Amino acid sequence: MAGLEDLYKEIIVDHYKNPRNRGTLPTPPAVEEQGTNPYCGDEVTLFVQVEDGVVAEVAVDGRGCSISQASLSMMSEAVKGKSVDEARVLIEDFKGMMTGDELAPADVMKQGELAALTGVRKFPDRIKCAILSWNTLGQALDKSED
Ligand code: ZN
Repeated sequence: MAGLEDLYKEIIVDHYKNPRNRGTLPTPPAVEEQGTNPYCGDEVTLFVQVEDGVVAEVAVDGRGCSISQASLSMMSEAVKGKSVDEARVLIEDFKGMMTGDELAPADVMKQGELAALTGVRKFPDRIKCAILSWNTLGQALDKSED
């Protein structure tokens, strides 16, 4: 029987090999934001289209390690269709899950597939890879509200 770590690995590999929501969106109405993680060489580009306070469309592109790109793919799925406020809560929850001292099982369950990235907590350098797309999303939401 596959253990939890194997399952987590499978989810990450799946998102890395079959990235969701790849592409671009016209700007405007979407905003474009880029993020880089110089420690690892990861790059992400986000296109976010907010309509009536809702993240109506998300398209992403990027290159880098499997953690950064899997996180980017999962993030794009997690926030699409959410309100901007909900998306901001997700960003904080995710960053809390990755950097917090303790991992509360209930909080992790709430994260669904995103919990697969908690395996990275053991490798502090890779946490930056996992958080990159989420920080960039925060910047994109700021931009869309200007
Ligand atoms: Zn990386």
